[in-house]
Amino acid sequence: MRDHFEIRDGDVAGRIGELAVPRAGVTVETPALLPVVNPNIVTVSPARLQSEFGAEILITNSYIIKTNEHLREEALEVGLHEMLDFDGAIMTDSGSFQLAEYGDIDVTTDQILQFQRDIGTDIATPVDIPTPPDVSREQAERELDVTEQALRDAEEADTGDMLVNAPVQGSTYPDLRERAGRIADATDLDVFPVGAVVPLMNSYRYDDMVDAVAAAKRGLGADAPVHLFGAGHPMMFALAVALGCDLFDSAAYALYARDGRYLTAHGTEHLEDLDYFPCSCAVCSAYSPDELRETPSDERERLLAEHNLHVSFAEIRRVKQAIRAGELLELVEERARSHPAMLDGYRALLDHADQLEREDPASKGSFFYLSSESARRPEVVRHHDRLDRLDAEGRILLTEGGKASGDAFDASWRVVPPFGPFPRALSETYPLTAEVPERTDPTAYEMAAEGVARLAESNPDSEFVLAHDGWPETALARVPDDVTVEMLGRVPSDD
Ligand SMILES: [Zn+2]
Repeated sequence: MRDHFEIRDGDVAGRIGELAVPRAGVTVETPALLPVVNPNIVTVSPARLQSEFGAEILITNSYIIKTNEHLREEALEVGLHEMLDFDGAIMTDSGSFQLAEYGDIDVTTDQILQFQRDIGTDIATPVDIPTPPDVSREQAERELDVTEQALRDAEEADTGDMLVNAPVQGSTYPDLRERAGRIADATDLDVFPVGAVVPLMNSYRYDDMVDAVAAAKRGLGADAPVHLFGAGHPMMFALAVALGCDLFDSAAYALYARDGRYLTAHGTEHLEDLDYFPCSCAVCSAYSPDELRETPSDERERLLAEHNLHVSFAEIRRVKQAIRAGELLELVEERARSHPAMLDGYRALLDHADQLEREDPASKGSFFYLSSESARRPEVVRHHDRLDRLDAEGRILLTEGGKASGDAFDASWRVVPPFGPFPRALSETYPLTAEVPERTDPTAYEMAAEGVARLAESNPDSEFVLAHDGWPETALARVPDDVTVEMLGRVPSDD
């Protein structure tokens, strides 16, 4: 385990961790949200971010500071913490964003790391290239080479006890993202931002964002703290945490406020469209939408930014509580219902159920079956894998009903959608205690049938009778031919 990052609790691939930031002398609990502070335009002061919103860490841009004479002099003279009046941890970006935006910056990784160290940065960033989505493979590879050189330069630089980011690029090529993750992980750098996913999120391509992050995570070790760079919308925090992201930064709270946009955990509203505030933060309790609209623009922008921060930090706390309670996927599922693109994101997450299963805890509080997506959760994958290893000898009844009577069967196993069959001794173990609706969907039965197939395939010498309670044809079609299928009531199963 990396000695500055300790994982305390987990659910799916999400975790509650502690990131020790030695230069700031603080430990940041993750998942954490880093408000972006633009040193030129301070919407909400860093001191208030800390005292009123609970920000333990923020991010600002060292390139902006370096290229502005006044800011540079002040930062060099008094240090970032005093300049911003913030004694938590401060991460700084390097100008890579400006490089991507304007094509050129006049600073090297060596120079910007030295500058970040000089101004008192706690977590610094080298000059990587944030390759946008959908570029040619040649461009993605060429720019990844430059990023990898920046990581080597950063490793060689004298950075003292300052932590250093090792960005993971690779555009929308999963194999390049995975390679970039593996190379970053092999360095002695400290924090791992998955970069250039903002265009994906801005165009609601949450499924592509999931694939990019999942690929990066395959390359990175499970103990690597991961920053989803530029991800500030609370709607996707649960999804990204479930993938294994630990840090988020929000410029959104201020940028959205500037054009009258009001964040919620379900999406974005426009102040002009609201008759009621669906929130009880300090701002929404004190103002009605009408009153806020009538407030002078500077003050309105600040108040909207404050609301946006309140909902963003509240969502981070909700995600942490869901991890603690083992209900993170239930939360992801709820968020997935707020926008079709989020549903695509959730479905993409479940495409990686095998990968998630390796980190998902074996036992949690409860499993709520809430939609056909629930049938593809890592717990179902794990149960099916387990069926390959369970011995079932002789003549076995697999039934949704009661136990077999008499000596017609050597054993009677329960069948519960979406998991499929299991010995009765496992009935009280997670996830087989799942709450499944009475009016469930075909997918749950289809997955249960897959479970029957897995058991039958790994026990070819046994004889199975499946007693089901009216499964749909699509599910029965997945039951192997050598399994006898009966409707409940027509087999000697009731005792
Ligand atoms: Zn509010």
